[in-house]
Amino acid sequence: MEKRLIKDQLNRPLRDLRISVIDRCNFRCTYCMPAEKFGPDFAFLPKSELLTYEEIERVARIFVSLGVEKIRLTGGEPLLRKDLPTLVKKLSAIEGLKDIGLTTNGVLLPKYAKELKEAGLLRVNVSLDTLNSELFGKINGRGVGVDVILTGIKAAQDAGLGVKINMVVKKGLNDSEIVPMATFCKEQGLQLRFIEYMDVGSTNGWKMDDVITKKEIYELLKEHYLLEPVDPDYFGEVAKRYRYDGTNVDVGFIPSVSESFCSSCTRSRLSANGQIFTCLFNGEGHDIKEFMRKNVTDEEIADRITNIWGARKDRYSDERTEESAKNRKKIEMSYIGG
Ligand code: SAM
Ligand code: SF4
Ligand code: SF4
Repeated sequence: MEKRLIKDQLNRPLRDLRISVIDRCNFRCTYCMPAEKFGPDFAFLPKSELLTYEEIERVARIFVSLGVEKIRLTGGEPLLRKDLPTLVKKLSAIEGLKDIGLTTNGVLLPKYAKELKEAGLLRVNVSLDTLNSELFGKINGRGVGVDVILTGIKAAQDAGLGVKINMVVKKGLNDSEIVPMATFCKEQGLQLRFIEYMDVGSTNGWKMDDVITKKEIYELLKEHYLLEPVDPDYFGEVAKRYRYDGTNVDVGFIPSVSESFCSSCTRSRLSANGQIFTCLFNGEGHDIKEFMRKNVTDEEIADRITNIWGARKDRYSDERTEESAKNRKKIEMSYIGG
């Protein structure tokens, strides 16, 4: 298929794609899937509604032909989807795709890290919000301790995968863990990324007051470390990075709330049931699954994606207010994958 580069209404190219492969999770993180809202009766997607790996590979290949260079697999917990390395292998064979990553809570990495690496996965982002096992057990809602995740991280490193750590910081929950986590990751040579707590979905009870901003975290770190700013690696890089002076270890910030980056947002998202979202804060997606199942050609699918991207005007974080956070219909983080 002929390659074309597409741009949206604000002149932003399509460069990266997040694919959620499953909306289920073995955790119930308080800021993502609070246990009281995601109980035993919660209606997760039935297996029959998920895109098959063949369908994901097809749509991903078409996305690559339209300019996507990076794909990240996510969920829910992506490692709960059966045979994920099979999908990674299919994706890594796509010509023109430069990077495949995975975001995971890390629990199943000891089982899958080696296989994922052999299948072509390059990097993993492992979510870890504290080094305190008791607190971590409360945050993940399942009583799972920190050791389980550290074992997962080690397995990923041993397998030769690049590893970054994602820490969501929520005021009064784990802000006391900012410095211990920074110190630990620096010593281990792991890039830590502090993520501002976001108003995704409508179940986590988000309030602006609960957000600890990038600036606050940065000021706190500066009391302990000398930090040098690092230039972005590419247009649209989301993390603002710094390097601990005299080392080659970076620390990053994802300031989605306090310093929005909509003007350089080049990311599309594909849900596990085949909906395309052009913004993390959309209420509804654009169907691609049923369309694909109608015997259409790759060109027709490419045209549809081109139209969806071409109509895009999203800049939710630029315009966010306490009111919009409460009143707007938004999909859940566990459904769209971050
Ligand atoms: N289960 C995997 C994990 O936790 O890494 C992948 C899916 S999870 C939805 C993707 C990322 O979103 C994780 O790094 C998680 O910490 C982050 N996340 C979840 N809820 C969030 C929120 N309310 N604000 C900011 N980040 C959030
Ligand atoms: Fe699951 Fe990840 Fe959400 Fe935690 S952040 S509940 S691990 S999907
Ligand atoms: Fe991109 Fe939407 Fe986030 Fe803005 S709010 S950076 S458009 S996903």
